[in-house]
Amino acid sequence: MQSWAPDNIDDFLDWTWSQIEPIFLDLQQRPLDEGNIEAWLNEWSDISNLLDERYWRHYDATTIDINDKAAEEKFTRFLDEIRPQAKAAEQRLKEKLLESGISPDGFQVPLRDLQTQVNLFRDENLRLLSEEKKLAIEYDKIVGAQTVLWEGQQLPLPQLEPIYQEADRERREKAWRLAAGRQLKDRQALNELWGKFLELRGSIAGNADYPNYRAYRWRELLRFDYLPEDCYQFQQAIQEVVVPAAQSIYEKRRQRFGIASLRPWDIFADTYGKPSLKPFISVKELTGKASRIFSQVDPQFGKYFEVMRTEGLLDLENRANKAPGGYCNHYPYSKRPFIFMNAVGIHDDVQTLLHEGGHAFHVFECGHLPYFFLEIPSEFAEVASMSMELLASPFLDADQGGFYNPGEAARARIQYLESMLLFWPYMAVVDAFQHWVYENQAAASDASNCDSYWLRLWERFMPGVDWSGLDEEASTGWQRKLHIFEEPFYYIEYGLAQLGAVQIWRNSLQDQGSAVAAYRQALSLGKSVTLPQLYQAAGAQFTFDVVILQQAVDSILETITDLEEAID
Ligand SMILES: [Zn+2]
Repeated sequence: MQSWAPDNIDDFLDWTWSQIEPIFLDLQQRPLDEGNIEAWLNEWSDISNLLDERYWRHYDATTIDINDKAAEEKFTRFLDEIRPQAKAAEQRLKEKLLESGISPDGFQVPLRDLQTQVNLFRDENLRLLSEEKKLAIEYDKIVGAQTVLWEGQQLPLPQLEPIYQEADRERREKAWRLAAGRQLKDRQALNELWGKFLELRGSIAGNADYPNYRAYRWRELLRFDYLPEDCYQFQQAIQEVVVPAAQSIYEKRRQRFGIASLRPWDIFADTYGKPSLKPFISVKELTGKASRIFSQVDPQFGKYFEVMRTEGLLDLENRANKAPGGYCNHYPYSKRPFIFMNAVGIHDDVQTLLHEGGHAFHVFECGHLPYFFLEIPSEFAEVASMSMELLASPFLDADQGGFYNPGEAARARIQYLESMLLFWPYMAVVDAFQHWVYENQAAASDASNCDSYWLRLWERFMPGVDWSGLDEEASTGWQRKLHIFEEPFYYIEYGLAQLGAVQIWRNSLQDQGSAVAAYRQALSLGKSVTLPQLYQAAGAQFTFDVVILQQAVDSILETITDLEEAID
């Protein structure tokens, strides 16, 4: 504990910048050598963790009650008066550490990342990067304003989603066409916004002396373990191995529906014609059963979850004045996670809690690591959460402590496994599209070229669904993918994480105990090692290879076949 440390985190929530600044000044002025580096890093780590935790606690308070004006004011004051100063002070400490030339044990990966960030930094890009954020807000505004009149009510498009799951095909088609028509009205506005994004990104890359935006972005995302060529290899492997499997799933759906061809509005409907799953009535029931499931995956996970329950680190139920969505946060000073979601009693709630549980246990497993640089690595975070969804799936049955009778559990699991297979080809379209865009930036600034390239990719990766007569809707699909506008090149990380998670789950089919032990070991490494080393520790390979992907697809298809027998 540092001499300046607050008595508790709640006290720190009220500290002003004038109380915090001396801690940074002292760190800044202290001469560094091999003898004191560890204490110096620990102290920096403590203040940085306090600030991060404060950010999340203020943020969480605004989502727990969106009408809490005092919470909102505190958060805004923190963002205006403390965060920018703290970020600037931290930047100076990063430079000081790099200039010292000292490389403490286990610090190679964080030092590599720091060096990259310092190299990438350009004063003249600061304005352009905030300009980019503003364009992203513009995109959110255009898409967020899209509503349609449905049965007398003006509805935002996401609220039509339950209708796509309904049994009534005519209603599904009507809702789908209504939404698509509304989206096409913004086609021109989004084309113009796209041109601005591309121009800006070209300038950002140029200022930082990179030949194109992709090369710049690769460094900004701190990608050292794979190249664009690996992404092409992954796309190719998906085409060879996953596309036929996805096609077979579409064909099975078409047959179960008994229709001539599967149209875009048929993809999300339940093909078994059964009522939707009702896993729990109260949140108490949800937490109780989730706790039993986590304990079965590993007793230690059950214990972590109990800590969260007793310490008030779960806010799960939907209620008035709560922000939408779900997430898991990290309180790095207290070394605790916090899960927020809006449970209403549907299967998605169960899946969300299992997913966020994986993120939460990652926080617990990293808790022993000494410096803040060694904590949650973003590129492995989704491996942690997606693996948990799969590792927990055998325990969804009521006789294993879970929520469902065997037929219901089988339906839930089939739906999840199928969605994984259907995701990879779509991910390949999104990724391949972006590589083409930034390799051909001049051509891609003309949106009609984007339309036709997207359509080519769609035909290559997405056979099995009949889009005839819907050319405009099909070719503008890139406009509906937020990541293409706001998070360039990020999307492949979901596809890679999914392949990691399936490998870990495959191991558990052979030997649950040792698979989970390896998974926990990997989580506990934080980001002290490289991404391929994390995969290796988890018993998986970080790969883009067709052989591993084929094994993953085979296991998914075999499990689906087994589960189908459990459905009456
Ligand atoms: Zn996640």
